[in-house]
Amino acid sequence: MLISYLCIVLTTTNNKRICFTQNSNKMYKEAVTNLYDLLQFGEYGDVNPSITDSATFTFLQAKTMADCFTGDAPGCYLYSRHWNPSNKYLADAMAALEGTESAWVTGSGMGAITTTTLQICNAGDHIVASATIYGGSYAFFKNYLLKFNIQTTFVDITDLESVKSAIRPNTKMIYTETMTNPMLQISDIPALADIANAHNVLLVVDNTFTPLMVAPAKLGAHIVVDSMTKFINGKNDCVAGVVCAGNDFINALIDVNVGTAMLLGPVLDPYRSASILKNMHTLHIRMQQHSKNAFYLAHKFREAGMKVNYPGFEDHPGHATLKKMMNPEFGWGGLIGIDVKEASIASELMEKMELAGVGYLAVSLGYFKTLFSNSGKSTSSEVPEDVQRNMGLSEGFVRFSVGLDYDIENTWTKIEGCLKEMKLI
Ligand code: PLP
Repeated sequence: MLISYLCIVLTTTNNKRICFTQNSNKMYKEAVTNLYDLLQFGEYGDVNPSITDSATFTFLQAKTMADCFTGDAPGCYLYSRHWNPSNKYLADAMAALEGTESAWVTGSGMGAITTTTLQICNAGDHIVASATIYGGSYAFFKNYLLKFNIQTTFVDITDLESVKSAIRPNTKMIYTETMTNPMLQISDIPALADIANAHNVLLVVDNTFTPLMVAPAKLGAHIVVDSMTKFINGKNDCVAGVVCAGNDFINALIDVNVGTAMLLGPVLDPYRSASILKNMHTLHIRMQQHSKNAFYLAHKFREAGMKVNYPGFEDHPGHATLKKMMNPEFGWGGLIGIDVKEASIASELMEKMELAGVGYLAVSLGYFKTLFSNSGKSTSSEVPEDVQRNMGLSEGFVRFSVGLDYDIENTWTKIEGCLKEMKLI
């Protein structure tokens, strides 16, 4: 029964694939359809794969256990810090979504970023990183890695000449975010991949702001990291991350002798993997609604005369770059920044908006409710103020992660009321 059901689904799935090869949007759709074509069953035919609630695994023969430790027993699990079946289901789904051969899930987005970096870089190595990235990543590169004498040169990632000239003989990776936090700059991934390949360094891209919208690995990135805490899970009930890469890199990460993931142990709990996997299957619908609502609000803010940062505007410096990389079905993303110039004004506005029911004054993004925070005083507070100003981050910059509001016109009415009350419009 189960076998015949599988055959029908696979036939349908194959037909669908043939359809997409004929579609001019094939490049864009591939990563998305890979995820939704995945068939992951539990051991009893359960449509949600069974949760493997075990740290360790038993063997009938001692030799199989020994083979497992040397990597010679494919399909066997040895210990959940290495692999757990529930984590493998989610990792396979993320590899399908990002279009990589393999993936490994971590206990947070920072877990994915730090594990990847420490796997690639040895003491004395050098990194070229975008100056505008999540504050935690910035602090890790700028402060923490100095413990290992690993230095980072921060550059304007949209200035390809400055990326090239920052590369040194000991540079091991170029690090950026597809859409950077919080400035919403757009990284030209194919161009950065060309630079990386020409200099024999790895291009690592954080795709947290743009899952489904952009598939960095398909555009030349060697490794993609995501904080699944945000859009991918979308429920704000846990922190989680993922490293998506080729088999060789993922196997190296979990090598029992020298793998950074295996030895530092930033693994995700299998219960969380199971719940994130279920949430992922609504990601395409959520991304469309986040983008639709952000598009509406960005235009309303601009019409009202506010200074707005939104990659969907044709005059945004990264608009054309994003357009050439993105899957247009998912729009321009759920993030907007507005600049009210002073931190005290930003604070008052955010407090008013929270009281008016616009959403929550909270960090993070990709939640079904709208979240807003003053980036310079929160998620980018690790970046020194002079550097914030140099990158164009005003002290009054308020970042919105626009939610899934059913009635976004009503949300705008509430925001407009707050802006008017403060005489900002
Ligand atoms: N990458 C980006 C772009 C982020 O915005 C964040 C957190 O805000 C992270 C990574 C870190 O993810 P996590 O909080 O899951 O560790």
